[in-house]
Amino acid sequence: MRYINNNYFIENVSLQRLAKKFSTPFYCYSYEKIKKNIQNFNSKFGKFSPLVCFAIKSNTNLNLIREIKNLGLGADVVSKGELMLAIKAGISPKKIVFSGVGKTESELLYAINKKILLINSESESEINIIEKIAKKKNSTVDIGIRLNPNTDAKTLKQISTGKKDNKFGVDEKTFIKLVSRLKKSKFLKVKCLSVHIGSQITNHKPYEKMLAAVDKIIDKLKFKFEYVDLGGGMGISYGKKQNKLNYNKYSNAIEKFKKKHASKIIFEPGRSIIGDTALLVSKIIYLKDNNSKVFVILDAAMNDMMRPALYGAEHQILPVKKNKLKSKKNYEFVGPICESTDKFLSSKNFQKLKEGDLVFLCDVGAYGSSLSSNYNLRPKSPEILINKSKIKVLKKRQRLENII
Ligand SMILES: *Cc1c(COP(=O)(O)O)cnc(C)c1O
Repeated sequence: MRYINNNYFIENVSLQRLAKKFSTPFYCYSYEKIKKNIQNFNSKFGKFSPLVCFAIKSNTNLNLIREIKNLGLGADVVSKGELMLAIKAGISPKKIVFSGVGKTESELLYAINKKILLINSESESEINIIEKIAKKKNSTVDIGIRLNPNTDAKTLKQISTGKKDNKFGVDEKTFIKLVSRLKKSKFLKVKCLSVHIGSQITNHKPYEKMLAAVDKIIDKLKFKFEYVDLGGGMGISYGKKQNKLNYNKYSNAIEKFKKKHASKIIFEPGRSIIGDTALLVSKIIYLKDNNSKVFVILDAAMNDMMRPALYGAEHQILPVKKNKLKSKKNYEFVGPICESTDKFLSSKNFQKLKEGDLVFLCDVGAYGSSLSSNYNLRPKSPEILINKSKIKVLKKRQRLENII
């Protein structure tokens, strides 16, 4: 993805051309970039021969998940819907893990019937329900238990999940109690210890602390877990200023852990696989100068891309066509939705824009389309995949007739 003669291209296709073909707003992914991210992940962690389960919640596009499956990944799902989607995409149930704090009895029954690899349970009550279902079926179910390692992921507080005041996982004491009790269960087999301390983690130190907590509890329990599921959370670089996760340091810490514990490693990356592979292209409907600020009112809105409104996340915005005008402007990029949080970015020294110009938001592949909604009764945007010169429609624009 880069400018060629001041026009932005995704692989061999210009955004200008795509905008003409599909109209705006639309999501556009690079196949090459997805492939590279998976190769990069494998080159950093492949030596552990891990099972890599793509976190489906980061992107729920069926056709995209098919591509990711073909590149070898399994799935981490957090609802029956995501489980159905992963299976429909052709992912083997033996490569699927099911996480989440509130799986209902019917969701659990569905997962058990599909014989997925692991249900990662997050509470004693849930374990009791799984045991009840297994008993009724007179079968054994493999589970993981999610530990809350009380580790600060040093990320946005809204996407931090591994501290004791977060709802996720069980504390050390409960964990030990559960494993000890389940050793005697005829219907449940504890096969996995799982952790996931948060998302958009750009420092390896929280991971080191997490591994230390896992190491400590395994030593205390003297229990052999067939799997240790380290979750996802690897951060990406949303702007030039942002830190990058040092994969080598994280990988070294796992290597040290592996020397002591022979468990198979599972990862559940979402953002690091898909985050930087997509753009959201949008047209400027109006420019509005209210004396203190110039608002750029886009045809994309928080219903298309929720992260800025939800977490105050910042996604870089760039022009589809660079102009050579000397004068630069300060702009506030907003959407047309009737909420003051429907705002993408304040940008200083942007090239001078005019109504009808095209711009795009960067790094929208993860938690972009999957968090989109029909708020203000706006149809969801199409999703396009570019592979060299090939243009593939992953999902069409919703039709208003179908959502009203
Ligand atoms: C969201 C989530 C992930 C993926 O997180 P990323 O930051 O996208 O890698 C992995 N595991 C669990 C349990 C999750 O909830």
